[in-house]
Amino acid sequence: MVQDLRFDNQTVVVTGAGGGLGKAYALFFASRGANVVVNDLGGSFKGEGAGTKAADIVVDEIKAAGGKAVANYDSVENGDKIIKTAVDTFGRVDILLNNAGILRDISFKNMKDSDWDLIQAVHVKGAYKCARAAWPYFRKQKYGRVINTTSAAGLFGSFGQCNYSAAKLAQVGFTETLAKEGAKYNIIANVIAPIAASRMTETVMPPDVLNNLKPDWVVPLVAVLVHSSNTHTSGAIFEVGGGHIAKLRWERAKGLLLRADETYTPGAILKKWDKVNDFSVPEYPTGVADFVTKSEESLKLPPNEQ
Ligand code: NAD
Repeated sequence: MVQDLRFDNQTVVVTGAGGGLGKAYALFFASRGANVVVNDLGGSFKGEGAGTKAADIVVDEIKAAGGKAVANYDSVENGDKIIKTAVDTFGRVDILLNNAGILRDISFKNMKDSDWDLIQAVHVKGAYKCARAAWPYFRKQKYGRVINTTSAAGLFGSFGQCNYSAAKLAQVGFTETLAKEGAKYNIIANVIAPIAASRMTETVMPPDVLNNLKPDWVVPLVAVLVHSSNTHTSGAIFEVGGGHIAKLRWERAKGLLLRADETYTPGAILKKWDKVNDFSVPEYPTGVADFVTKSEESLKLPPNEQ
């Protein structure tokens, strides 16, 4: 039963836990018995400034309710320090929720290198550094659970968010590979595309919509995915928010197989272009192996029509 899921004696590291989704995760896991590292840099949603208040408030709230928590104020770019806080304080790390994030929205035409670099540093390098520091502990104890955070902006693109879209789709490839490398060690990694009311969304969505998108309504799926009872769902992408949960996956069209020789020309492709786009018999690839098989088959075909 989902409502019975507990996390006693486990240590959960939540990055960006000073507000929004991260705060909701931190409060939930502490209420279910976990030791929680409440990491937050405490800056603005554009990544300016720093402070201790955001993390401290959440730690105080957890402790006031009888839970166990410690604050960490490092940027996720220094993920090793965040994981060190977990190990120094609680002696272990079991679950990593890579959640911290910022926005630097601007049209691609006006994007500056600084807007691009900061977004990649926080989202891509930040998720990497935290997972990299936790990985040896996960492997050694043959147990680890990771949630990375993507976005609809990463999956589908979003006007004015080119830097963020690139950083967020990176979370998907990162997760898929962590899942493959972690499988042998009972390390499970999944990625969520949440939607929730927070300081990030309050300026772009109307209040009545935001009322239906509480961060608390993203938490239960995360709890299910990182619980020890989840031994199979790994490397998966979920969209979640406002009561909606759905898995996403790659879909490949039936596709066109041409002989790869001198008759393999742009004209030969155009002649059968509809096959490239034909999703009537879709496939759901999860690796490159079947792609390689297809290219071997191509050599057995007759020369292509021009
Ligand atoms: P939020 O701004 O409320 O929370 C993000 C937290 O991360 C903040 O408390 C911030 O101080 C912290 N943070 C920022 N940079 C940091 C750094 N370098 N190191 C440590 N902490 C840092 O926003 P949120 O909506 O709760 O977003 C949480 C995550 O969900 C983000 O990764 C965001 O991109 C993603 N997301 C949110 C939505 C949504 O609808 N809210 C949609 C898609 C993706």
